[in-house]
Amino acid sequence: MEAKYDFERKYREQILQCSRCGFCQAVCPVYGATLRPALNARGKMLLLKEVMDRKIELNDELIESLFQCTTCASCYENCPSGVNVPEILKQVRKDMVHIGSCHPAFRGMNEVLKKHTNIYAENEQEDFDREHNRKAPYVFFVGCVGLYREDESTEETLELLDRLEVDYTLIDEVCCSGVLEDVGYELNEDLARTNMDRILATGAGAVITGCPYCARTFNNKPQYAELKEKGVEILHVSQFLKDFDFGVKTDKVVTYHDPCDLGRHCGIYDEPRETIRKIAPNIVEMSHNRENALCCGAGGGVRGAYPKNSIAMARRRLEEVEETGAEILLTECNSCVHNLSNAKLRKQKFKVYNTSQFINELMETEE
Ligand code: SF4
Ligand code: SF4
Repeated sequence: MEAKYDFERKYREQILQCSRCGFCQAVCPVYGATLRPALNARGKMLLLKEVMDRKIELNDELIESLFQCTTCASCYENCPSGVNVPEILKQVRKDMVHIGSCHPAFRGMNEVLKKHTNIYAENEQEDFDREHNRKAPYVFFVGCVGLYREDESTEETLELLDRLEVDYTLIDEVCCSGVLEDVGYELNEDLARTNMDRILATGAGAVITGCPYCARTFNNKPQYAELKEKGVEILHVSQFLKDFDFGVKTDKVVTYHDPCDLGRHCGIYDEPRETIRKIAPNIVEMSHNRENALCCGAGGGVRGAYPKNSIAMARRRLEEVEETGAEILLTECNSCVHNLSNAKLRKQKFKVYNTSQFINELMETEE
């Protein structure tokens, strides 16, 4: 049968490789929150097989299953047949957008980024009372969530860099727009060009970012390849901070949540833990950690499109934090901080921080 969609041309063999073993079910956050087998990776692959067999149409009725995925890659990590579900779904979403079937929240996001410089359509950007666009060895790239929703955490990260006497500049940044590729659209070339021009104009040798998704986008997307070609290194803040000695310690019990974008997608598990061990020797692991960490439920546009389920996913993760008895939950992603903080119940007394924010508070207290 001749392929009708690009996802069939590119991924037919992989979809057929799904043996329906169900190993992905236990690790899929969407399944964990909804208990609906049609929404886990196996359910999605079965649907796509039916589309390839022409038993069902790719249409609006499939939006709920095929667009409800945080792209956490837990299924891929645990799949014995090597089915890369998040990559397959990215192409399926492109095919769906092409035929006019798209979740309205994602269509809206694409429209917003045609007219605005950020995913929230905000007009005023926090300037953190720091210099922008100057010549410096480092650019600190904040990212949309850190600029518009978790600006207090960003302020503390910048204070930490100041304490460590890092010579960085901010830039008038715009959304990296990598998320558009997850939800069926193309990365916005104009936004990418703006970011690159502003980064290159500073003469910086490295970009440090607090957003693992921005780091992935700058490192991997061809639209940003010029940065590396011109010798600009891209570092997540956890990589940058791992060699510093902070000279402070807490005896509080601390646990660490691996963000999907930093862990499974970039393979960065050790650096954040090395830093935490220096400042919080009482670090305990949650039952799902590193490659098997549970997703916080924010990724892949799910927080905007399916807010109730997104919060339910975060609550499952927070239950694991509670089980450890930790007083502090550290992570390395503003999006995770945002979702986990919003989902935290009053009775859950632990506090949620980005690691850099927490270190800054410790240093401030010692002064
Ligand atoms: S783990 Fe892989 S092979 Fe098994 S059901 Fe899930 S997607 Fe299919
Ligand atoms: S990427 Fe994550 S959310 Fe999406 S199907 Fe796989 S396990 Fe579920």
